[in-house]
Amino acid sequence: MRLRNVPGAKETIIQSDFSIQEPKTYRGKWKEEFKNENPIHIEIGMGKGKFILEMAERNPEINYIGIEKYSSVLVRAVEKTENFEGENLRLIRMDAEEIEEVFAPEEVDRIYLNFSDPWPKDRHAKRRLTSARFLERYDHILAPDGRIMFKTDNRNLFDFSLEQIEEAGWILENYTYDLHNSKFNEGNVMTEYEEKFSAKGNPICRLTAYRHDL
Ligand code: SAM
Repeated sequence: MRLRNVPGAKETIIQSDFSIQEPKTYRGKWKEEFKNENPIHIEIGMGKGKFILEMAERNPEINYIGIEKYSSVLVRAVEKTENFEGENLRLIRMDAEEIEEVFAPEEVDRIYLNFSDPWPKDRHAKRRLTSARFLERYDHILAPDGRIMFKTDNRNLFDFSLEQIEEAGWILENYTYDLHNSKFNEGNVMTEYEEKFSAKGNPICRLTAYRHDL
């Protein structure tokens, strides 16, 4: 993602009813924040927010929290909330490295990782959001039957992720190397990157994984 300084981004984010300041103070209290017992689904690295906004519009019985590291990107998602009328969406500017400080054990029901940064150099592998190091963090915040769902057009990153999931002892519920031409495509909501890369003809890979065979 190319980053530009966006003048006024921080102010726009702070003024939005959808954005959360001091997210660590909500740890263990997210259901209170949403004022219901509905499941909580988060997207880590949501970019400009197309996916999470559309998911929140389609599924009012699920609470969605979008996480993005950079204000200059998050502000684009905040701008999109102008016509959003639901109460089931919150947006946070934070680094996923701190995810366990923002969510208590078992507080999250699903984690979406869409077109995560590939970090192609071996020495940066730990920064990949599907690395074993991150899977361990997700293990700590996900409900027992919680899922991670990961989409990408980057075959190397996808193959790395399949390996990491196996090594970490997670169970692959399903996966495909060509989501748009598979039975799993029904109800698929495209992200900004997904639209861009599938328009170029790149097949989209997707996997779903969980930890326990219930
Ligand atoms: N998910 C969007 C999509 O599919 O269109 C955006 C994909 S973009 C390649 C990856 C996004 O993840 C960027 O906006 C980046 O800033 C964000 N990101 C990368 N590492 C992150 C981290 N550690 N914590 C939070 N966000 C992160």
